[in-house]
Amino acid sequence: MNDIDDYREIIGDKLFFNLFKRTRRLTSKAILNINSTAQGGGVAEILESLIILMNELGIYAGWRILHGNPDFFTITKKFHNALQGGSINLTEIKKKLYLKANQEFSVFTHINHDAVVIHDPQPLPLIKYYKKKQPWIWRCHIDLSNPHPELWHYLENFILRYDRIIVSSDKYKSEKLPVPQKVIAPAINPLSPKNMELSQQDITKYRKKYKILDDKPIMTQISRFDYLKDPLGVIEVFKKVKSHIDCRLVLCGSMAVDDPEGIKVYQQITKAAQNMIDKKDIIILNVENDILVNVLQRISNVIIQKSIKEGFGLTVSEALWKETPVVASNVGGIPLQITDGKNGYLVDPLDYDGFAEKIIYLLENPSEAERIGKKGKETVKEKFLITRLLLDYVDLLNEMI
Ligand code: UDP
Repeated sequence: MNDIDDYREIIGDKLFFNLFKRTRRLTSKAILNINSTAQGGGVAEILESLIILMNELGIYAGWRILHGNPDFFTITKKFHNALQGGSINLTEIKKKLYLKANQEFSVFTHINHDAVVIHDPQPLPLIKYYKKKQPWIWRCHIDLSNPHPELWHYLENFILRYDRIIVSSDKYKSEKLPVPQKVIAPAINPLSPKNMELSQQDITKYRKKYKILDDKPIMTQISRFDYLKDPLGVIEVFKKVKSHIDCRLVLCGSMAVDDPEGIKVYQQITKAAQNMIDKKDIIILNVENDILVNVLQRISNVIIQKSIKEGFGLTVSEALWKETPVVASNVGGIPLQITDGKNGYLVDPLDYDGFAEKIIYLLENPSEAERIGKKGKETVKEKFLITRLLLDYVDLLNEMI
């Protein structure tokens, strides 16, 4: 567990002093965060660090997980996809099961906090089942620029009850909603096991354990096994790169409890890899291990993030922080982190040749890869570290309580 004092050296005195100064009014205030998974995906990743640091500053920050059965998570994954522009058959039974999980949770979970922060659509209806005594904030982490109209209309019934909405990009604000909306970009924890410095010894140990040899360059995508992360597309890009340069592909993924599509996607990519002539050069890792992610982001020559949709994409900042060049889709929150050609490359998600071309360029030009990697770290240091996010939350809570 990190100590808040450990961050002083990384962020400098000014920001560090500000954290304490601006939190003074919030000492002993109780803040409750609710989301739907403790593990897997970016939201759990952020909460794990953020809540500890809030407590370090004297805020009584808590975290509860909305319980859901497989039906509930199947429905909310459909909501998740449809909010990001997909389609859905919004039946009464789906609505009923969605509400049931929320209503039941409200019966055995009492809220007497000074503020409540609800993350993403799964626990969104909770607000309907409480006698609201404090500000409620809906923090939505997904791309809301083109939500399914019927679903959005339905969800507005809950969203309207909130006092504030937080999204990751200006593009996700909804002009029509009469609820104040604010943009707060997500961030990574530079001292967590996933992002901390590693010794060469640790790296070698992990390489051995997961059989990742160093005889060829490596391109890697690290993402939940999800269609919207397009792992099958990554294999297609790999084939193109491989026809120019002998290299390896690592696909590292995990299954989030609230994402029932993971198994299907994992089976599909395993099958696609099996059918390839170069199958020995595709390593598929279905492991939840922060140090492994850290190692992969450090040893890869290029990190690819070929998402079709991406609310923010913490994996991009994680790789940039390690000075590893990233070639990523120009969608959602990724262009907040990458300026094309400056600290990484942005490509249209359907442009397979474009992806391959940039990856080949980086593999063939190591000095350019190094230059771009260094720029990437500067960007994250300036904009996407957890301490900045902490300060944004502190400011928000000062305003709301
Ligand atoms: N992640 C992980 N292991 C994996 C795949 C992903 O630890 O095998 C982590 C990844 O490092 C990042 C988070 O899950 O911290 C994914 O966040 P992101 O914002 O990129 O995407 P999301 O899953 O929230 O859509």
